[in-house]
Amino acid sequence: MTKSCGSCGMCCKLLGVEAIEKASGDWCAHYQRGKGCAIYAERPAACASFTCLWLDSEKLGDAWRPDRAKFVLYTARDGARLNVVVDPAAPAAWRREPYYSRLKTMSQRAFDGYELLVSIGDRRIVVFPDQDVDLGVINPDHKIISGYAEKDGAQIPYAMVLSDLPDTPAKPE
Ligand code: SF4
Ligand code: SF4
Repeated sequence: MTKSCGSCGMCCKLLGVEAIEKASGDWCAHYQRGKGCAIYAERPAACASFTCLWLDSEKLGDAWRPDRAKFVLYTARDGARLNVVVDPAAPAAWRREPYYSRLKTMSQRAFDGYELLVSIGDRRIVVFPDQDVDLGVINPDHKIISGYAEKDGAQIPYAMVLSDLPDTPAKPE
């Protein structure tokens, strides 16, 4: 069955849109509850091309619709990152079930270089199968890298912020 956005609209709250200087986490000035985008025909290209993972995936049921889950999932870095952008009004939403167990399962791909990044406002958390690395509140323009490093024969997860490279979560162009 083909999914549709219906009354969701969560990406219009949670994601930034550079072209109209819309900050992440605030409702877009053009969003009208119950009606959707007031400038739909002329909306920015980043909005027109955006599709969240819930819309795209047959494996994510109704509970994962972003306005119910209280977070938006979308891929970036050519599929190498899964962004989980959480509503700051419900910061623990991603830790609830059935979400947290499923996100942990998705994070298994970290062993292949994949990154599962939770954003709650400017706070960033990189999720690995066996731990969550909370980077705290960061400059959202700064790039994050993560992966596994070998130490004493064991693979240890790491995540860090690089200070000079932009990497802002936003509706991808
Ligand atoms: S978050 Fe997904 S389902 Fe909700 S309005 Fe945006 S694209 Fe549609
Ligand atoms: S311009 Fe329209 S589609 Fe884009 S964020 Fe605003 S309300 Fe949503």
